[in-house]
Amino acid sequence: MSNAIDALIVGAGVIGCSIAFGLAGQGRRVQVIDKLPAAGYGSTSSSAAVIRTYYSTLPSTRLAWESLHHWRDYENFLGVTDERGMVHYTETGSLFLRTDDEDGLENLLTHQETLGIAYELWDDARLTKEMAWLDRTGYGPPRRHDDPDFGEPSGRQITRALYFPDSGYVSDPQLTAHNFQAAAEAHGARFQFNTAVEEFLVDGARASGVRLEGGEVINAPVVVNAGGPWSSGLNRLAGVADSMRVSNRPLRQEVCHVPLPASMAPKDDGGVALIADADIGNYARPDVGNKLMIGSMEPACDPVVWEDDPDGFNRSHSEQWTAQVYRQALRMPDLQIPGQATGVVDLYDVSDDWMPIYDKSDLPGFYMACGTSGNQFKNAPVAGQLMAGLIDWCESGHDHDAEPYHFPCRYTGGEINIGAFSRKRDAAATTGNVIG
Ligand SMILES: Cc1cc2nc3c(=O)[nH]c(=O)nc-3n(C[C@H](O)[C@H](O)[C@H](O)COP(=O)(O)OP(=O)(O)OC[C@H]3O[C@@H](n4cnc5c(N)ncnc54)[C@H](O)[C@@H]3O)c2cc1C
Repeated sequence: MSNAIDALIVGAGVIGCSIAFGLAGQGRRVQVIDKLPAAGYGSTSSSAAVIRTYYSTLPSTRLAWESLHHWRDYENFLGVTDERGMVHYTETGSLFLRTDDEDGLENLLTHQETLGIAYELWDDARLTKEMAWLDRTGYGPPRRHDDPDFGEPSGRQITRALYFPDSGYVSDPQLTAHNFQAAAEAHGARFQFNTAVEEFLVDGARASGVRLEGGEVINAPVVVNAGGPWSSGLNRLAGVADSMRVSNRPLRQEVCHVPLPASMAPKDDGGVALIADADIGNYARPDVGNKLMIGSMEPACDPVVWEDDPDGFNRSHSEQWTAQVYRQALRMPDLQIPGQATGVVDLYDVSDDWMPIYDKSDLPGFYMACGTSGNQFKNAPVAGQLMAGLIDWCESGHDHDAEPYHFPCRYTGGEINIGAFSRKRDAAATTGNVIG
């Protein structure tokens, strides 16, 4: 068998594995290289794996809506049964508590309506009926637990919420990456772990492959940067970062795990998966194992911790854990606060506008799927397909910058203009946080 390959992907996270599936499915000979021991061991392993459809821009909403249908049809879409097991998408709906009329959600709702995605407006009576256990006292703006005004009611009551039925979560993000690996391997893709890419090679004016640690050279006419929080460093290494108008950087995040409050235990009809709550600056969802996961929506009171070295950041919980858990306890009076901080500490790969960068680069043959900004796990199924389509478009002679590739949505119809995720875009008007 020839060792020649058509495309080399750096990174076997959920995005890199999905791209491998997309490219191998086109009949390309694909090799994936990752410096960690297995698929999904990078930032994917820490994902809260929330699936939802609301985003600030129409292309992002379309991407999430199309991806949701892939999660619903997951095994059929992948076409394999992974011997390690297949993940499950559990659809439970999600709730966005509204603070006031200026909370920026109108924009999101317009996109839901444009695409015919269902949502419900819950009033005070409906909230009381569905979630009597939730303390709906307004406390905002969000404060740190050591602020003298922490826990002081603002005088406003939360009387409205948006309910999105087409939402849920995936059981195991790391296994998801492995499922995509298995699907890619079924089409002949090869994976090499515990191996770092140290240099990108250029032949003439084109990407031509990589040099691995230890010196081995792998030649490939197409190279894809799917390096997650390492991707901005990889773009610099490849010499393509300076020509980008949108930049991306690793941002430290803590997700807290606490016992699931009894009030929030799943009901026979599923219960509520995710509660996004700008009043306390948190999102929370139940997890397998009777846990509640608590993450931050980046309120102004939380420090922004950019990390220049994705290999060298502090993975221990800090005061941020306490801040998030105390804020959540305001909302859930029966939440028990454990004496020991458990959860995950990891990195988002955040772009200037919290939208992903799915694009080519100024170096022909070098592509990037990065800037996933804490919100692209849900879009991984389509990210792989659209990158494969984009690469095909460019390699068959089109200039994606001038004539953007449009991805055809096979489940929901219509197309997504992938130019919306260009490295050369003007930063989009978004929520400027993980909602994207
Ligand atoms: C705490 C947290 C919570 C999140 N919650 C959600 C959520 O609820 N919903 C949602 O949609 N999204 C969520 N996300 C975002 C989502 O998980 C990420 O966007 C996605 O997992 C990124 O996948 P990736 O493949 O790009 O990166 P990664 O999984 O980080 O993979 C990158 C890979 O590249 C490899 N690599 C890097 N450099 C090299 C090199 N030089 N040589 C070889 N290999 C290299 C790394 O080893 C790594 O395995 C969350 C993210 C985090 C961190």
